[in-house]
Amino acid sequence: MRRIEVLRLGHRLVRDDRVTTHVGLVARAFGADKIHLVNCEPSIKHSIDGVTSKWGGEFEVQLTEEWRNLVRKWKQKGGLVIHLTMYGTNLDDSISSISESEKDLLILLSAEKAPPEAFDLSDYNVAIGNQPHSEVAALAVFLDRYFGGQELKRNFKGSKLQIIPTAKGKRLVMAG
Ligand code: SAM
Repeated sequence: MRRIEVLRLGHRLVRDDRVTTHVGLVARAFGADKIHLVNCEPSIKHSIDGVTSKWGGEFEVQLTEEWRNLVRKWKQKGGLVIHLTMYGTNLDDSISSISESEKDLLILLSAEKAPPEAFDLSDYNVAIGNQPHSEVAALAVFLDRYFGGQELKRNFKGSKLQIIPTAKGKRLVMAG
């Protein structure tokens, strides 16, 4: 089974707490297996882990200080590195070859201007349109296009809570 991991660069302490947490939650909900958070507070890991323990699945959060080695090792093991950036080539031009490669994916995104190595070390610099927007949106669109929408139907094993979809109001049950 192919692994999909996300590498979050450029986290600015306190200022980016909420956005970095959202990147983690989107990674989990849209089908990634793990996120690596560079120079990030343990409280962010704690928040995302808390969601996983309540809502299920095996999503992992790794705090790290060094990302270049992670990228190099990923490539040495045969995985692909995908950098999401508005300067890249359009998603439509690369999504088929990324999907068909069947390689593990490491998806890089940044809180601020990405360092030049992110562009150089990556196999694909992929733009979700060439306008500036958000790493949260870019990750969601990339994963949704990659999985063709199927990720939204996933079952998260071991959840304590489960939502019963309903047209109005809220229905929540204890799972299991
Ligand atoms: N102007 C900045 C730059 O140099 O890319 C935008 C930074 S943006 C606030 C933070 C992150 O969102 C970027 O590093 C990139 O990962 C992601 N992002 C923003 N717009 C994007 C787009 N159109 N396509 C892909 N990723 C995008």
